[in-house]
Amino acid sequence: MMKCLTIILILLLILLILTIRYRRQIRFFINIFRLFFAIRENQMPAKKKDIQLVCCAGCKKWLPASEAIDLQLGNFYCSKDCFNKRLSSG
Ligand SMILES: [Zn+2]
Repeated sequence: MMKCLTIILILLLILLILTIRYRRQIRFFINIFRLFFAIRENQMPAKKKDIQLVCCAGCKKWLPASEAIDLQLGNFYCSKDCFNKRLSSG
């Protein structure tokens, strides 16, 4: 048990020395990684964060509000076809 602890301590010490020695390089790589993930996050479609689903009044299909046709009456339609069908059927 004592031997295991000593090895861990030595490894930690080596890691500490390496970290201090190469801290500039490590910081550089961390910055690159941050930049990389920031770019990736910006490229993600915004609608993934909060999608508001609405129900098409014509075919009862659920679709994102950003893709729906909003008539400002609380009615949403998935397409003009659906809207026209709904109008012609009364
Ligand atoms: Zn529809």
